[in-house]
Amino acid sequence: MRDTGGAAFHSADLGIIGGSGLYSLEGLSDITEVELKTPYGDPSGPLILGTVGDRRIAFVPRHGRGHVISPSKIPARANIYALKALGVSEVISVSAVGSLRGDFTPGDMVILDQLIDRTRGVRPASFFGDGMVAHVSLADPYCGRLRPVLERVAAAVHPTVHEAGTYCCIEGPQFSTRAESELYRSWGMDVIGMTALPEARLAREAELCYVGLALVTDYDCWHPRHDSVDAQSVAEVMAANISAAQKVLLGFTQETHPSQCNCHRALDNAIMTDRQAWQGASLGHVPTLLRDRVAPVL
Ligand SMILES: [Zn+2]
Repeated sequence: MRDTGGAAFHSADLGIIGGSGLYSLEGLSDITEVELKTPYGDPSGPLILGTVGDRRIAFVPRHGRGHVISPSKIPARANIYALKALGVSEVISVSAVGSLRGDFTPGDMVILDQLIDRTRGVRPASFFGDGMVAHVSLADPYCGRLRPVLERVAAAVHPTVHEAGTYCCIEGPQFSTRAESELYRSWGMDVIGMTALPEARLAREAELCYVGLALVTDYDCWHPRHDSVDAQSVAEVMAANISAAQKVLLGFTQETHPSQCNCHRALDNAIMTDRQAWQGASLGHVPTLLRDRVAPVL
């Protein structure tokens, strides 16, 4: 881990990326704050490491402490790289979303299963491409092994959990126009937000098991009652969401789950570049990203 200052002295196995409203994690003991440097710059802020039971957790507040980083500026590569460098193998991504469906109501939870990318391509979305080209599959961006576990835990602490949902990721920071919102609804998308991408792409490239817990905060602007929702009621829903999410995250750390899935093999046959031609910055990053199986043969 020559290129990740400090990571060699700390470790974690479960990463949690907190979205709007979720800036810390309850129930942690042995808490340490770690400032990591990565080849992709600094993560969103110091990572909070702590212990729950026998699990070591690394928490990243996606928008930084005090919510100072806009969606387009989130250093997703640094966040994912830092988690990987700490030894994390599983990541739960928590995000506040708007609903594009009448039956996904504010306060509901959604265990995401699909993504649509409506960002504008300005967010660096790959660890590869600088001397090394890789094409990983993103057909199922969320881990099929951990999704049922997350759903089971969520259903135990929350009355309304949707077992699947397609997340439409827009660039922001403005919300959608009414026409856009209706377009996304006509395309069959379920919830809308600004942060799931490129995070999910990068987690797959880093061969991490990645799941998304979406917290419905409001109806997007398509809903006829949208204008009647005042800021206080949105804030109340959000506070209740975060309280419930804390319980889900704590419950997840105490779950045992099956160990077989393909996320950790995402780079099998994905690197197209001849090994003799590996060069440049990408090669320099390989030992941490792929250290479990590529590094020994370099
Ligand atoms: Zn997995």
